[in-house]
Amino acid sequence: MSATTLSSHLWTESLRLIPGGVNSPVRAFRAVGGIPFFVKSASGCHITTVDDETLIDYVGTWGPAILGHAPQAVIDVIHETAKHGLSFGIPNPLEVEMAKTITSMVPSIEKVRMVNSGTEATMSCIRLARGATRRDEIIKFEGCYHGHVDSLLVKAGSGALTFGHPDSAGVPAALASLTHTLPFNDLDQVEQIFQKKGRQIACAILEPVPANAGLYLPKPGFLEGLQALCQEYGALLIFDEVMTGFRLARGGFQELCGIKPDLTALGKVIGGGLPVGAFGGRADLMDQLAPIGPVYQAGTLSGNPLAMAAGLTQLREMEHQVAGLNGWEQLEEKGAILETKMRSLIVSKPLTFHRIGSMFCLYFHPGPVNNLEDAKKSRTEDFARFFHGCLSRGVYFAPSQFEAGFISLAHTLEALEKTAAIAAEVLEKI
Ligand SMILES: *Cc1c(COP(=O)(O)O)cnc(C)c1O
Repeated sequence: MSATTLSSHLWTESLRLIPGGVNSPVRAFRAVGGIPFFVKSASGCHITTVDDETLIDYVGTWGPAILGHAPQAVIDVIHETAKHGLSFGIPNPLEVEMAKTITSMVPSIEKVRMVNSGTEATMSCIRLARGATRRDEIIKFEGCYHGHVDSLLVKAGSGALTFGHPDSAGVPAALASLTHTLPFNDLDQVEQIFQKKGRQIACAILEPVPANAGLYLPKPGFLEGLQALCQEYGALLIFDEVMTGFRLARGGFQELCGIKPDLTALGKVIGGGLPVGAFGGRADLMDQLAPIGPVYQAGTLSGNPLAMAAGLTQLREMEHQVAGLNGWEQLEEKGAILETKMRSLIVSKPLTFHRIGSMFCLYFHPGPVNNLEDAKKSRTEDFARFFHGCLSRGVYFAPSQFEAGFISLAHTLEALEKTAAIAAEVLEKI
């Protein structure tokens, strides 16, 4: 981007006033080099920069924009709802409607509480699991991201049975030592830790489809085996469906895999673009929360009427059928179209394309990719060239190899075809 653009001016100012120029690290483009662009508006599958460039967007504000950007129905309901007040701090009817909607959609959720971000949702799940089991240690998996919760910013020690280390300055080693970080898709290591520590483990938390190290899938039997071990040792199973919830299916990935976790963390799509998270699960567990139980959890803006209205409307729109297909079925069709095109481009190239529903990732590695260690073998310099090549031609993928792409209902066949043609042109040069 040339030094005279509006984006570059704003970036210079940002760097002076905001740490690293951004309010969330990956936005800074450090994984791909260069400087980020600033957005002035977004509509459908396009975003428009402050320099009036229009891009086909596969970031979708990191997942929430499942209908596309600025869907009319959501914009309208936010306007209408705002006329009656922005926040009450006392129950409002939309909270009941949201709870009804979530409990009817997500198979394992009997009771639910609303929060303001995915981070709050996972943090609250961990506290609830610890409080309910009266145990302190937890299991998480490498490559799974659960927001910036102290207990979850922990990387593996050398070997599964050594203590975890803080993955951020400011996380006390004493707290990190309570988190065991294991490789994804490796049931043997889960079994080992349960054999050694089983009665101290409060919970295991994971993204059932990890989508924060690119995108890879659980091997057949992994989730089932994990659930069986949790049950055997009295630990809770927590699915972090902040990204996959309401995206891969009405009821998230748990609907597709048929496993009912004890607790589920939600976010992103459920907020319709406003700041929302939620967590829920078995009623007996959720009833351990304040004010009726001993586990404290609260939020000034939790259940905010604008956010509830936006999320409910977004979910209602997903139910609308076009040619006999609901939103999720339409997304599967769009995903399949992009997958077919991308696979035809990478034949005989050392690349791996993964997709489930409307989420996808192109790894610059021949594969297989089943865990973080595999994902890290990607040629990130090639990814950076691909990213910038696509961006300069009008297609915006996430600025890191280790992020998933998102297709929305607003991505037309024309947009998908244009994307594939641009990807073909760029891949030829790498
Ligand atoms: C985005 C994400 C989070 C964190 O959500 P925030 O709203 O950014 O706090 C947690 N878990 C997963 C799986 C996510 O993708």
